[in-house]
Amino acid sequence: MIDVVPETPRTRTLVLDVPEWPGHRAGQHVDVRLTAEDGYQAERSYSIASAPEDSRLSLTVEQLKDGEVSPYLSEELRSGDKLELRGPIGGYFVWDVSLGGPLLLVAGGSGIVPLMAMLRHRNAVLATTDADRHRLPARLLYSSRGWDEVIYRDELTRLAEKNTGLEVRHTLTRDQPRGWSGFRRRIDRMMLEEVAWPPSEQPQVFVCGPTPLVESVAQALVELGHQAARIKTERFGPTGGSV
Ligand SMILES: Cc1cc2nc3c(=O)[nH]c(=O)nc-3n(C[C@H](O)[C@H](O)[C@H](O)COP(=O)(O)OP(=O)(O)OC[C@H]3O[C@@H](n4cnc5c(N)ncnc54)[C@H](O)[C@@H]3O)c2cc1C
Repeated sequence: MIDVVPETPRTRTLVLDVPEWPGHRAGQHVDVRLTAEDGYQAERSYSIASAPEDSRLSLTVEQLKDGEVSPYLSEELRSGDKLELRGPIGGYFVWDVSLGGPLLLVAGGSGIVPLMAMLRHRNAVLATTDADRHRLPARLLYSSRGWDEVIYRDELTRLAEKNTGLEVRHTLTRDQPRGWSGFRRRIDRMMLEEVAWPPSEQPQVFVCGPTPLVESVAQALVELGHQAARIKTERFGPTGGSV
């Protein structure tokens, strides 16, 4: 590992130099295996945060207080330490510009990670050619508990300000800064109707986060008339608090 970047009080990005990395697609993940001195092993999946265009691999890990693996990765790992990785894994929850748009991304908490790889990839491609700009509009609806817990907050703001057809909308479910004028509740059908394109635009939809959020968002989108086959989902875990 070559660097550790703090993202929020509970989240850090690990920047890795992976010799002979075969390359990946935005949305894929790796399995990280830890081995204790007594031989005990634990393995967990982590989405790749970096764009395929980036030469270094980034993972962003949220610390779950009573977790086995995430506290080690997010607190104890130091620059220079080695990690055992398997991947890239996954061929379903992936997007690249050849698949076109519009692109509708819905995230809860650390569920932003694979969606960020898609936005970084989109940005890298649009930076080299603006021919696709009108073919690839993107919208992100991102649920976090509070403003301090928004992962990649500044980068998302910068990307949205670039005038490349990306709109970012936040909902803050627990704490809102003074004067907050955005959403302040869990993602629901009415919010999706306000943010998403109508089904007639046939957006490609990617939803990622805690299991209950993913299930309720996917169901609401189907109720709004979006084709289930166009809604791709990735569930990060069994619970998920209130994001
Ligand atoms: C395809 C995939 C990609 C993932 N990508 C990421 C990522 O990019 N960043 C990231 O931080 N995590 C990601 N996860 C979740 C990650 O794999 C682990 O589940 C998470 O880090 C918890 O592991 P742990 O060993 O710390 O907790 P465990 O010891 O496994 O569990 C501790 C407690 O937390 C609960 N729990 C487990 N997982 C979650 C969760 N995700 N949310 C809330 N509660 C949970 C358990 O029920 C248990 O009560 C991904 C999961 C999948 C399946």
